[in-house]
Amino acid sequence: MGIAKKNLPTIGIDIGGTGIKGIALDTDGVIYAKLSVPTEASRGREAVLLSVEELVGELLERCPTACALGIASAGRINALSGEVVYATDNLPGWTGLRLAEWAGLRFGLPVAVDNDANAALFGEWRLGAAQGLSSAVMLTLGTGVGGANMESGRLLHGAGWSGGEWGHAVLVPGGLPCNCGRRGCAEQYLSGAALMRSAEAAFERASLSPAELLQAFSTGEARAAETLREYTSLLAVFAANLKAGFDPEAILLGGGAAASLEIWRPLLEQALAAEGAAGLRVLQAQLGNQAGCIGAAFMAADLAQAITGNKEEESA
Ligand SMILES: [Zn+2]
Repeated sequence: MGIAKKNLPTIGIDIGGTGIKGIALDTDGVIYAKLSVPTEASRGREAVLLSVEELVGELLERCPTACALGIASAGRINALSGEVVYATDNLPGWTGLRLAEWAGLRFGLPVAVDNDANAALFGEWRLGAAQGLSSAVMLTLGTGVGGANMESGRLLHGAGWSGGEWGHAVLVPGGLPCNCGRRGCAEQYLSGAALMRSAEAAFERASLSPAELLQAFSTGEARAAETLREYTSLLAVFAANLKAGFDPEAILLGGGAAASLEIWRPLLEQALAAEGAAGLRVLQAQLGNQAGCIGAAFMAADLAQAITGNKEEESA
């Protein structure tokens, strides 16, 4: 017998370097509560865990029927054991943390844990732009470039839980130095921050807002057009590489730079055609910065259903 589809309320948490977001929602997508607090990572691991504890506590008060907890975290996460395999100094002391075990003891609920980019794609798949897709690659074009891969509705974590790190695939050999130690990583060219850096260089301005860049582009300003042409050309090279290696049904773009996708989509489509990837579906992510905690909540619901299903099988 299959697992009965029930309308399960769960809690999802997304722990990033700057903020912790939480949501209580059910599998119909009904939201009971949404909260966020700053991470304050500089105060150390115990302080971050205390913030998570308070956030989950408050969400449980508002949604006492929540039957499982999902936690998305930055870093390399072992989704089977619920352990942080590796995290950068953005989350000090996080490496080696047994996150699922910690949360299970604190809250007495089943706990699902995964990487934040994976959770974001999972959220988009269950409630956002990737619904109905069987395979997809997601790129988050924010301060850095995050990534996640899905095939047949399953996230591909990789042998060492580091799959989907597309931001650190080299796009320009010998190019700009990256904080990972290599040169020319995609993140240095495709992140929202990288786009604004090249716009500022083109305009010879110390600071320029995305709105100013897009405004200039819409009036046909040459430096704005050139900046976005270069950006979309590199993005198209990268997307064509993803298509060659992975052939997903669609590529999802999230993060700050993707907010203006519809404005520069014609440039991207031209560039994709030039790379032999005409017709590659590129979709804008829909859940914004809530994607990670929504995905974590749905992972928790799947875990709860699997546990219920196993119990029913045992008692049958
Ligand atoms: Zn890198």
